[in-house]
Amino acid sequence: MDPLARTVPADDAAPRIAAFSNSYAALPERFFARIPPTPVAAPTLVAFNRPLAEELGLDVSRLTEERLAAMFAGNLLPEGATPLAMAYAGHQFGHFVPQLGDGRAILLGEVLDRGGTRRDIQLKGAGRTPFSRNGDGRAALGPVLREYLVSEAMHALGIPGTRALAAVTTGEEIRRGATVPGAVITRTAASHVRVGTFQYFAARDDAEAVHRLADYVIERHYPLARAAANPYRALLEGVVDRQASLVARWMHVGFIHGVMNTDNMAVSGETIDFGPCAFMDNYDPATVLSSIDRKGRYAYANQPHAAQWNLARFAETLLALLDADAAHALEHATVAVTAFSDRFAQHWLGGMRAKLGLATVADGDAGLVQEFLELMFRGKADYTLTFRSLCDAAGSPAADARVRSRFANPEAYDAWALAWRARLAAEPGDPRDRAAAMRLVNPAIIPRNHRIEQLIAAAVAANDLSMFRAFHTTLAHPFDEAAAATIFAAAPLPAERVLETFCGT
Ligand code: AMP
Ligand code: MG
Repeated sequence: MDPLARTVPADDAAPRIAAFSNSYAALPERFFARIPPTPVAAPTLVAFNRPLAEELGLDVSRLTEERLAAMFAGNLLPEGATPLAMAYAGHQFGHFVPQLGDGRAILLGEVLDRGGTRRDIQLKGAGRTPFSRNGDGRAALGPVLREYLVSEAMHALGIPGTRALAAVTTGEEIRRGATVPGAVITRTAASHVRVGTFQYFAARDDAEAVHRLADYVIERHYPLARAAANPYRALLEGVVDRQASLVARWMHVGFIHGVMNTDNMAVSGETIDFGPCAFMDNYDPATVLSSIDRKGRYAYANQPHAAQWNLARFAETLLALLDADAAHALEHATVAVTAFSDRFAQHWLGGMRAKLGLATVADGDAGLVQEFLELMFRGKADYTLTFRSLCDAAGSPAADARVRSRFANPEAYDAWALAWRARLAAEPGDPRDRAAAMRLVNPAIIPRNHRIEQLIAAAVAANDLSMFRAFHTTLAHPFDEAAAATIFAAAPLPAERVLETFCGT
């Protein structure tokens, strides 16, 4: 017998792609349900993020495309995976549901990436779990493509969030009103621990589990908190600050998460669960695009309030750890959650200053920003394109005409531009450098909703992924001037505007 034959894995053997190091599976059994993915009929690879695979240190060089597809469909488990569905609860649109959990997501395990950071690898749409309730455990191709594209676009924009590692179609049809192609997305996350994970145990008066979970999160995401006088207060303050920063970054690019339920807020500070999320076209703080958000609870401008509300729910779960004295604990929690407003305002104004080309701090800056937003609102100006043209105007007033053209009432821009230029005069540096710096924070391109709908329609109706691929490629470099010249940069024509997005679960 050829001695080498034994080293060649049989086609159905578990591939060894990484040294899994699964810390969540080592937590008490009540934190999750151990459950493997349910195999699907005919996995086909739709997208595979090789640069991310490399960043994660995955070795997929010996895997054929068929085996990659099988692995990312859940048909073939990599060696070392400990598949499980995480338990969590959550406030959905303000109503508490004591048990939600991963109803269609399965955590394969964790790897240490090339930078030494622990990263979850999770399949979404991988079949039923004990948390599925009435759901089928599956995901539809449309929402999978949306999550893939938007999460990668957010990464390219520099905003923390889960990443998309792979997407496959399952060869199975699923029912979402109509019959649609089934798909699975594989995503990575700093972790999938949510505010709702804490709520799950707090609602059961399981103080020991809350304690274990808090220690786990400190270890994994807030190691500096360990050295604090009270690590749990430091944890709470850390989560508050990261959420304040995250939501501010969303606001800077016009992102609307759409379902900021407590089960969709990761304590790591990453954007998670890209469902009916969408980017705003023309600036309107009241913009709501999600079809399920009937009352606008998660409207664009409500996002900081929603985050703070969620953080109050998070703080409630930690009370017993904040102080042995209940009154003191409540006081600590209140101070920490109240601090969100200031933290958010700072992060927000810092980013908005950069968008206007301001490197220094002056008293009237907040007013200057507000006035510009107000102008955009009244002038129905496109949020992204207006800021992008402003970069040119910072380089030379000759480019003012371009900015003016963004507004329904172009003359309204002129008085504001005078005030802006007066403020810029107090800034150090050369106008061309300022314009270049502004182009690094004001993207030329965002994942526009109408284009996402078009590419989903092409993929679902005709199995045509060309537009998905082209858009994905362009979105990888959102600050490059080259992106501005593509069909993906333009705002929708009135007939193309999408007024509603569906999470499709
Ligand atoms: P989401 O709105 O997608 O964040 O999901 C909210 C809850 O519903 C979570 O517990 C999900 O796991 C569950 N869920 C969503 N879609 C499905 C599905 N197709 N099958 C089973 N559970 C689902
Ligand atoms: Mg969710």
